Amino acid sequence: MAVRPIVVWPDPRLREKTRPITEVTDEIRALYRDLVDTMYAYDGVGIAAIQIGVPLRMFLVDAGVAGIAERGASVDPVAFINPEVLDTSGDKEKAEEGCLSFPGIYVPVDRPRRARLRAIGLDGKTFESEGEGLFARAMLHEHDHLTGKLLVDFVGPLKKRQIKRKLERQVEPSGHVHGENCQHDHDHDEAEHAHGVAAVPVRSS
Ligand SMILES: [Zn+2]
Repeated sequence: MAVRPIVVWPDPRLREKTRPITEVTDEIRALYRDLVDTMYAYDGVGIAAIQIGVPLRMFLVDAGVAGIAERGASVDPVAFINPEVLDTSGDKEKAEEGCLSFPGIYVPVDRPRRARLRAIGLDGKTFESEGEGLFARAMLHEHDHLTGKLLVDFVGPLKKRQIKRKLERQVEPSGHVHGENCQHDHDHDEAEHAHGVAAVPVRSS
């Protein structure tokens, strides 16, 4: 169990082709624990394995977002292994999405209101998951990661350049992303500080 570094765009590893998982082994369960730790450390509500540099077809969604627990309850996130989108329905809705691989960036994205996915769980069994609103959005966002699709693919070239400039200022050559626990002496512009961002911003009403 460990918090792993997040791969931040424009790192080309985010576009790598992902491979299906052939069997839920101890290694896959260890990967799941690392993804859980990393997702929580960065305050995300979803994460895909490729975001920690592992090009396997697996993502997680927070149990609160998935509607199986109160948000903040200590219920493990739901694992989606080899997921497929079976069906989407409902009018498209536009909402701002964030992504752990785009710290501090939010992009309005049109998505169908409902989505139904089939995947394999950590127990090795196939399940179907139907969600709407934020849950549908989270599943579709994470599923996009497995096909190499990213937030910048939803914006025009000008906005894409702006995002690139902003992230290049944030990420040092070491790949370090400034966070709340940084021990640096120098001051950061607050607006450019990479606070833990949710994979999908959750606005409490
Ligand atoms: Zn993402």
